[in-house]
Amino acid sequence: MERLVRSCYKQGGYVFAKKAGSRTHGAGDERIARLASNENPEGPSPAAVKAAQEAVLFANRYPDERVDVLVSALKAHYGDYTFVAGVGMDGVIETLMRTLVDPGDTVVISTPTFSFYGLAAQAQGAKVVAVPRRADFSVDTDALIRAAKGAKIVVLCTPNNPTGNATSTGDVERVLGGIDGVLFLDNAYVEFSGIDYLPLLKKYENLVIGRTFSKVYSLAGLRIGYAFVPAWLQPYYTRAGTPFTVNAVSAAAAAAALSDREHVARYVTQVTAWRGRFAQELKYPVLPSDANFVMIDVAPHKSDDVVEKLAEKNVLVRSCRSFTGLADHYIRVSIGDTWENERLVRELNAL
Ligand code: PMP
Repeated sequence: MERLVRSCYKQGGYVFAKKAGSRTHGAGDERIARLASNENPEGPSPAAVKAAQEAVLFANRYPDERVDVLVSALKAHYGDYTFVAGVGMDGVIETLMRTLVDPGDTVVISTPTFSFYGLAAQAQGAKVVAVPRRADFSVDTDALIRAAKGAKIVVLCTPNNPTGNATSTGDVERVLGGIDGVLFLDNAYVEFSGIDYLPLLKKYENLVIGRTFSKVYSLAGLRIGYAFVPAWLQPYYTRAGTPFTVNAVSAAAAAAALSDREHVARYVTQVTAWRGRFAQELKYPVLPSDANFVMIDVAPHKSDDVVEKLAEKNVLVRSCRSFTGLADHYIRVSIGDTWENERLVRELNAL
């Protein structure tokens, strides 16, 4: 019966990071250092937990389809922008593709990068064009603009997963001005960068900025993301989306998480300190990062071998082998709790 499955799903698919599996509740060295998925190691903000507990009492009712509780909180936090929400930023990406892409349309992606853009575009029957970054992983804006001629969507991740580097607002503006389609700017890690792309929203009506509560806000398990969109796009996004896609518990928790600035600041401080310490203390080259992870060049070792060896020592990190266009000697390591980071330094240096 597999003949019935669409050809784009006959192979490939999203590559998940290594899981801790059943070995998660140990003590001491039996504990697992989870540095594979760029999560905030501290639990969610107590304010978010409380809001979720209150919201779950009304789980017999369908959620508010406009996700008003979250949109109001976002407006209070950022100002009067137009917002849409989704089941993680993954959900936002999927709905955006559904809204704009007809079969045969072109989607241009700056690579190596997060894989789901390409998968979501293919699911709509798009032609996906990858535009490689330069050797130092900076974006070749001219090449991107040239490839984007006639494209519906251009995708640029900044700070970029897995390389960690951010693109300047000047370069982003150059791309915005040079293309006919929409620029989807993935800002999953922007809170760790100190760069503010929001002023560009006032100047360009082809800019969508995706954000998530999975990283700095520590709510990855609740699957909630959002985007700043131009006003013209919002009603169509809603029409294209799955009805009631954002659940009420996640929306309430996310709205509350926004207000806990101390919770956010604590992890940002940890990330900033450890980006420097990893660079200083590791024997392998650490690429400069604006995110809550670093990419490490583990040559002459191979990415997958290093990931396996570290897993044997109860340290989970991400192999970068599956990222299109990246050599197979890089690993990606999240910045976790201090004990996790220290163990990573010890075990990686001991390889
Ligand atoms: N964009 C990037 C660059 C990511 O790294 C991730 C998650 N790893 C996502 C989007 C998806 O985030 P979410 O958990 O909100 O779906």
